[in-house]
Amino acid sequence: MNSSTIEIPAELLPADGRFGCGPSKVREEQVDALVAARGTILGTSHRQQAVKDVVGRVRSGLATLFDLPAGWEILLGNGGSTMFWDAATFGLIDTRSQHLTFGEFSSKFAEAALSAPHLENPDVISAPPGDHPVARACDSIDTYALTHNETSTGVAMHLERPDGARADSLVIVDATSAAGGLSWTPSEVDVYYFAPQKSFAADGGLWLAACSPLAIERIERLASSDRWRPASLDLGIALTNSRLNQTYNTPALATLVMLENQIEWMLQNGGMPWVTQRVTTSAKTMYSWADARAFATPFVTDPSKRSSVVATIDISDDIDATTINAVLRTNGIVDTDSYRKLGRNQLRIGMFPAVDPSDIEALTACIDFVVERLHS
Ligand SMILES: *Cc1c(COP(=O)(O)O)cnc(C)c1O
Repeated sequence: MNSSTIEIPAELLPADGRFGCGPSKVREEQVDALVAARGTILGTSHRQQAVKDVVGRVRSGLATLFDLPAGWEILLGNGGSTMFWDAATFGLIDTRSQHLTFGEFSSKFAEAALSAPHLENPDVISAPPGDHPVARACDSIDTYALTHNETSTGVAMHLERPDGARADSLVIVDATSAAGGLSWTPSEVDVYYFAPQKSFAADGGLWLAACSPLAIERIERLASSDRWRPASLDLGIALTNSRLNQTYNTPALATLVMLENQIEWMLQNGGMPWVTQRVTTSAKTMYSWADARAFATPFVTDPSKRSSVVATIDISDDIDATTINAVLRTNGIVDTDSYRKLGRNQLRIGMFPAVDPSDIEALTACIDFVVERLHS
């Protein structure tokens, strides 16, 4: 059958066809919030009270959502998570970091640390895609770099302070796709950083970081040292500005408005317990569907490492996943493509909190429909 003529019946289609892993589905109410902000926030100065109040509500909302202990602070700045890696090489890593690499994103931070001339070569522990390595405490390490959810492979890891790590060492976690979707315990972590275009359903370009008192201490110490750093990547400057509910340079106001709305939506519905239950429902639907199909297999073999926010599903060799994705796209279901550099015959599905679990159910029915037609 010619794939370009496959039309999925309307009654099978999800209410919303956006299943990408970032930028991911933005809820309609977030766009309504933008419209409501058109005369008061959008197009106004980020140095005035109205915008500072939005930033203030984002910071306090996140502290509530994550149930942060006293002394923790939310920092923010421009440039997204990728920029935060660079900022961390200047302002968080003291001399030597350890990186767990198990996919594209975790590897990039390790590369940033490796190329920083002022740092010792990092200790890099790797695992093949589909798995994750485990941190090993070592006296020369002052910063352990973990990734809560490796978006390129759909592997999630439980966050734990490495046994026997130096008391002054920091655990810093790339939670870009996990934050607001997967649960974590602040006592196991010092810096939990992310960007708003995944579980928080806003736009990219901003980084946010929940920082423990120990992390704040490290930031302040390195910021007063004579290590050279560019001002835009200076976490000391970011700390000062964040405390004033500002960013060092101009942020995208629309991102902040959409982010605030998403945090409020999560809190109103019951916070992290509600969010995790919602994504767990979606994930169960997705993985049990794949388990039940001869042509589909969850890529992550260990069920305890399968992400509840990003599902990676291998497709059997006799069916081209690219064709499935192309058919889905012509039917309004978008961004189910696998991570391009992983190079697998695979679907990758974003199951972030904004995605309705019933739409994940509908998506599986649509894939069944398409595969059946491709085979006939
Ligand atoms: C998306 C993603 C990034 C990159 O985020 P940017 O905001 O585009 O820099 C980094 N790490 C993880 C785990 C991601 O999912």
